[in-house]
Amino acid sequence: MLSDQDRIFTNLYGLHDPYLKGARARGDWDNTAALLARGPEAIVEEIKASGLRGRGGAGFPTGLKWSFMPKEEGPRPHYLVVNADESEPGTCKDRDIIRHDPHKLIEGCLIASFAMRAHACYIYIRGEFYNEARALQRAIDEAYAEGLIGKNACGSGWNFDLYVHRGAGAYICGEETALIESLEGKKGMPRLKPPFPAAVGLYGCPTTVNNVESIAVTPTILRRGAAWFSALGRPKNSGTKVFCISGHVNKPCNVEEELGIPLRELIETYAGGVRGGWDNLLAVIPGGSSVPVIPKSVCDTVLMDFDSLREVRSGLGTAAVIVMDKSTDIIKAIARLSAFYKHESCGQCTPCREGTGWMMRVMNRMVEGRAEPEEIDTLDQVTRQVEGHTICALGDAAAWPVQGLIRHFRPVIEDRIKQYKAGGARLAAE
Ligand code: SF4
Repeated sequence: MLSDQDRIFTNLYGLHDPYLKGARARGDWDNTAALLARGPEAIVEEIKASGLRGRGGAGFPTGLKWSFMPKEEGPRPHYLVVNADESEPGTCKDRDIIRHDPHKLIEGCLIASFAMRAHACYIYIRGEFYNEARALQRAIDEAYAEGLIGKNACGSGWNFDLYVHRGAGAYICGEETALIESLEGKKGMPRLKPPFPAAVGLYGCPTTVNNVESIAVTPTILRRGAAWFSALGRPKNSGTKVFCISGHVNKPCNVEEELGIPLRELIETYAGGVRGGWDNLLAVIPGGSSVPVIPKSVCDTVLMDFDSLREVRSGLGTAAVIVMDKSTDIIKAIARLSAFYKHESCGQCTPCREGTGWMMRVMNRMVEGRAEPEEIDTLDQVTRQVEGHTICALGDAAAWPVQGLIRHFRPVIEDRIKQYKAGGARLAAE
């Protein structure tokens, strides 16, 4: 179990002043100039050595991503964009970081921007996070007033500006290139890659887009060292992670733990256990709505990290753990997700635009059992025509929950179809 001493965020949630005085008391902004004096290359190497993988869902190594940016300044400006558009169902960790630790994020923005030779950073925050946007702006204003950012930030000689941009409620703007389009004032539609943002990003300039949590942990990694961070968690899955536990648990919460903690321990230690006890568990979606559901038999032993969850054909995603007990209509639950993805598809590529609507309509029939048994295989095949054949990952995200349902709960779907047919036959006989 992670000690409070090794927690970067959640040990003090609600217990301390989130603004500058409280942040400084916790060690934020402590001689930041000395961290910057190490130089961009050394900072990137330290983040690489820490093993930090992106906390937004994909799990790409953060230091490696930073190293893709051009090594010299100019002629085009470089940008860091922080993705605070947190819209993945079940996920509310970045919101808490911004509420309770805005200065960790701001200091991280300065350090990461400096490491990538960017003089400007935009934090793109979900439009619904009105209070959080205000809290963040207040903290940014404090940082400007104290000379921590702005001209000659922290006395380092580096000029750095930080802007908050509020989104307008589209899930797809959490996709990095749609986010960039939206920042430029256009419709939030994903771009084809390549070119990747490190070559052609915001306003056609080299850009890195990182999740809030990925950036907010960097000052602590630099202060405590890559070796400290990489010793937490498991090999290739290092460090701490904020998990969001929701659904049929006794005490829904956000908690920071080591990557690789067993799912059962996570739920029982921090969320008060499953409603009605562990044996009443039906299934869990372990990483936000975009990863396949796993049944109780897998939940009994699985570890919560990128690679362990991939081995059981699911994913860590945003680490939003959605718990469903035996009262759940699992077909209906997944059908609801199909409706979500159909609604949020930007519609620019055919497999996603047509496929998400098709999946939703078939799933809605499956909820009632109004289908033929062969349609289960047809549905599975259609998800595979969507997966991997779209411009962005929303198509995959729509396909995977349905695939997980069929993989683990096919008998439930078959029973529902049988029941519907039996009901129809009974009515006909009457
Ligand atoms: Fe838009 Fe869907 Fe294509 Fe992504 S996969 S670009 S959301 S239509």
